[in-house]
Amino acid sequence: MNPLIDSIDFNDRPFIAIWEVTQACDLACVHCRASAQPDRHPMELSTDEGKELIDQIAALKVPVFVLTGGDPTKRPDLFELIDHARTMGVRVSLTPSATPLLTRDIIVRLKWSGLARLAVSMDGACAATHDAFRGMSGSFARTLDAIHWANEIGLPVQINTTFSRRNIAEMDAIVALMESLNITLWSVFFLVPTGRGKLDDLLSATEFEEVFAAIYALSKKASFDIKTTEAQHYRRFLLQQRVAERRAGAVGAAIPEKTADAIGRAPRGLNDGKGFVFISHTGDVFPSGFLPVGGGNVRRQTLASIYRESPLFVGLRDTSKLEGKCGACEFKEICGGSRSRAYALTGNPLGEEPCCSYVPKGYVPRPIGTARPTTFHVLQGA
Ligand code: SF4
Ligand code: SF4
Repeated sequence: MNPLIDSIDFNDRPFIAIWEVTQACDLACVHCRASAQPDRHPMELSTDEGKELIDQIAALKVPVFVLTGGDPTKRPDLFELIDHARTMGVRVSLTPSATPLLTRDIIVRLKWSGLARLAVSMDGACAATHDAFRGMSGSFARTLDAIHWANEIGLPVQINTTFSRRNIAEMDAIVALMESLNITLWSVFFLVPTGRGKLDDLLSATEFEEVFAAIYALSKKASFDIKTTEAQHYRRFLLQQRVAERRAGAVGAAIPEKTADAIGRAPRGLNDGKGFVFISHTGDVFPSGFLPVGGGNVRRQTLASIYRESPLFVGLRDTSKLEGKCGACEFKEICGGSRSRAYALTGNPLGEEPCCSYVPKGYVPRPIGTARPTTFHVLQGA
């Protein structure tokens, strides 16, 4: 068990809050959920509104707070916001884009402002794959520079990797690259076809299992933690592996976690809107950055009231409302499937995870053409 996660009532407050400080970014990634473009939006939350949001995060005692984008370094008040978070006792991680804006001086200033962790993206094992993914040549080299500079000044580094059809063939080489770098956490994302993310790039359920197997093997020997994003069924995979290892006479010991937000074992089911909240650049509050259905806006309501009381968030936390095989699954309390991917492929965030190969015991799918109106559509009055 993860004591920090276990101490939190997900109906009361999230474990992770991510604020998209801007959608502006100079990269043009093929999978960008934000459909980012170079200029800042005129309706972005202001500096004062951002500080007010940080105060709410502090009052809610959210353990993990991430400033993301777009590219957060496009905001001139970034250091002021991080400094404000530090004075409020909020630990901040940042996901800047690897562009010419991310210099050694900026990374040093970020650390002095109180940044707790730098997260950079690495989506290929070589420059050709990564730069094609990111839409800018030189991005791979800049990412390695940023990791090197952060290592030099003792700033912990997280790497985010999104697996899709574009890089799955390099999976073993990417794993080897991670082993060669000095990092604290490898955060493995699985594509959700939203924004610029394309359905054609989505991995099959079988390929999900192959990536799970690779990161599970790595987690047993890596010096860093590994967590997954939008692959809640990795927790089901972990439990199955341990059962199989025990049956085979292996100890199947839990993998010790080195950071608070790691998912090295199978803790309670963190999911979209359930322990997780995303605040957009204009203040809309979403269950995830990959699930573009809002529960409210922090310009009109408090973050706590939206998270605790909006029908969308309350419904997403109620596993009895899950539909399809996720609703029938014995793993739904620890897994529940990606609500974002269900929404992206079906328009129903309570539908079944489309990329899970597991079939719950005794589950019989409804015959085609006999689908009932979904709980989500009833809630929406559709
Ligand atoms: S770096 Fe991030 S925000 Fe910028 S284009 Fe790529 S995915 Fe989008
Ligand atoms: S069927 Fe749904 S709840 Fe069950 S393991 Fe797969 S994704 Fe998770």
